[in-house]
Parts: sequence; structure tokens; C-alpha cells
Amino acid sequence: HAKDLGRNNYQFYTTTLSAKTPELLNLEKSLRYAVEREELIVYYQPRVNILTGQITGMEALVRWQNPEMGLIAPNVFIPLAEESGLIIPIGEWVLRAACLQNKAWQQAGLPPLTVAVNLSPKQFRQSTLVEDVARILTETELDARFLELEITESTAIADLEFTRNVLHNLEQMGVHLSIDDFGTGHSSLSRLQLLPLHNLKIDRSFIQELTTDVRVAHIVKAIVTLGRNLGLRLTAEGVEKQEELDFLKSIHCEDVQGYLFYKPLPAEKATEVLQNKQTSALEMKN
Ligand code: C2E
Ligand code: MG
Ligand code: MG
Ligand code: MG
Repeated sequence: HAKDLGRNNYQFYTTTLSAKTPELLNLEKSLRYAVEREELIVYYQPRVNILTGQITGMEALVRWQNPEMGLIAPNVFIPLAEESGLIIPIGEWVLRAACLQNKAWQQAGLPPLTVAVNLSPKQFRQSTLVEDVARILTETELDARFLELEITESTAIADLEFTRNVLHNLEQMGVHLSIDDFGTGHSSLSRLQLLPLHNLKIDRSFIQELTTDVRVAHIVKAIVTLGRNLGLRLTAEGVEKQEELDFLKSIHCEDVQGYLFYKPLPAEKATEVLQNKQTSALEMKN
């Protein structure tokens, strides 16, 4: 959908599938310099515990501050990066930025939390992924348990043996692992049960229909129940309405992420939110 393409609402894609508009080709060209010109920015969206309201983590979400076009959403440029291979340097940059930020929060004395970083399919399949993650953790001096890596359900099930192997190596390192956009990959939880996972994120498309389609409510309830029985933490993505939150609370979903609480925030704003939360927690104790 055109409205998903970015804040600028540019119509990048022509109606013929796979044909790129001149704008898109130009964008791909300037993306080549985005990392070295320091045009990428990481936003952070808090993940909130549904019962306590506490922030239990942050998801790192990349944006591109393009000099001509302004802030470009990842749904626009991540596919281009994936296709051209630029996702490898971009992904590594995001991972390092997120680890550095998390380390900075810890050094500022804020309560420790995990920062989640999205891995694209190509990144996940890169043979050096495990060593790259290890190196970045060492370089940034972040303890592995404060890093969470997200792969989508479809990335995970593309080759389950491969996935199991890579996730096992990451888990040995102490990194937390999460399945993103769960429910969109047409798999089932039973296929994922052999993977060393910590967290399952229910795709926003389910949450959107939660209060209007009773069948969807049943499905979400089943996912939460089954997921919990498999020892996973459940996060609902894209929670926007109080009614959605109430339902998720009633089925004991642990965490929520969504505009109802917070939009993705620039690092500075995210830091303020963490500081204010800490202050209010201290006030509550007194
Ligand atoms: P995702 O990982 O599923 O991230 C969640 C997306 O949902 C984010 O969009 C977030 O802003 C949006 N969202 C969160 N709560 C709400 C809500 O209540 N309502 C609505 N309408 N949207 C909500 P964003 O930041 O535009 O990212 C889109 C996708 O781009 C991400 O989906 C992820 O797949 C990809 N992406 C973002 N950053 C990276 C990155 O550093 N690397 C890779 N490989 N992919 C990334
Ligand atoms: Mg994600
Ligand atoms: Mg998601
Ligand atoms: Mg998504």
C-alpha cells in the first residue's frame, strides 16, 4: 500500500510489479552512501509489561534521513538494501548502534533492559553472522543477555535445520532470540518448538482485527496459550486501542508494543522516557 511506504507518501513503485520507478533507482543509488554519510538513525520503541507498565525492552528501528527526501521508513529502503546486498553493512551498523546505545543507558545507571535488533533474511543467512554478533558485543562491551535478535517467522522456517543451528550458536553466546511477525508465515508453533527461542511477537495484523473479528481473538488466544506452554514470552505488536489492551490482559499476554503506549522514539526521547520511568518508580517506593 502506498500509505505504508513512508512518511512522505511518495508512490515509489509503479503498478507493474517489480518494475522500479526512476525515483526508486535513484534511492537505491544514494542508499550506497547512507552509512558512510551517517544518514541512518535508530529509533527505539519501548516494549511494555502489560501488568506493571514497566519498560522491559526497546526495539531498534532504523530510519534513513535522506538529505533530499527527509525521513524514509524502513519498509521503503530495507527491501532495496536486501536486494542489493547493502543490508550487510547497514545491518551491522544498526546492530552496533543499538548495542552502544544500550551500553550507554546502562552506564547512565538506568535499569538494565534488552534492546532488540531486527535481522533481515540475507543477514541471517550470512555465514559470518555469529562471529559478527560476537565481535560487536565485544567491541561495545555489552553483555550478550541484553541483546535480543528478531527474525521473522518466514525467515525462521525457510530452512529449519539451518535456523536451529544458527540460533543455537547465538543462544550459546547468551543472546536472546525472538520470532517477529508471528502468524504471517503460515507455519505453526509446533514447527518452531525445536528452536531455542525466548520471545514470540504476534503480528500487528492480528491485533488490528482483535476487537472486530471474534475468530481472530480466538486465534490470538490460542497463540498466547500455546506459546506460553512452550516457555515463550508473548509480545503483541501494534497495540493502539484500550480494548485491544484489555483483551490481551485478559488472556495473560506478557508484553505489548504499540502506539497506545509509545511510538518509536529518537534515542534522546527514549532516554528521557527511561529516566522519567525510573523517577516515577522511585517516587512510588517513597
Ligand atoms: P517490525 O520489526 O515488525 O517492527 C514493528 C513496526 O511496527 C515498526 O515499523 C513500528 O514502528 C510499527 N508499529 C509499532 N507499533 C505500532 C502501532 O501501534 N501501530 C502501527 N500502525 N505501527 C506500529 P517501522 O519502524 O516502520 O519498521 C517496519 C519494519 O521494517 C520492521 O517491522 C522491520 O521488519 C523492518 N526494520 C526496521 N528496522 C530494521 C533494521 O534495522 N533491520 C532490518 N533488517 N529491518 C528493519
Ligand atoms: Mg521487529
Ligand atoms: Mg513485527
Ligand atoms: Mg512487521
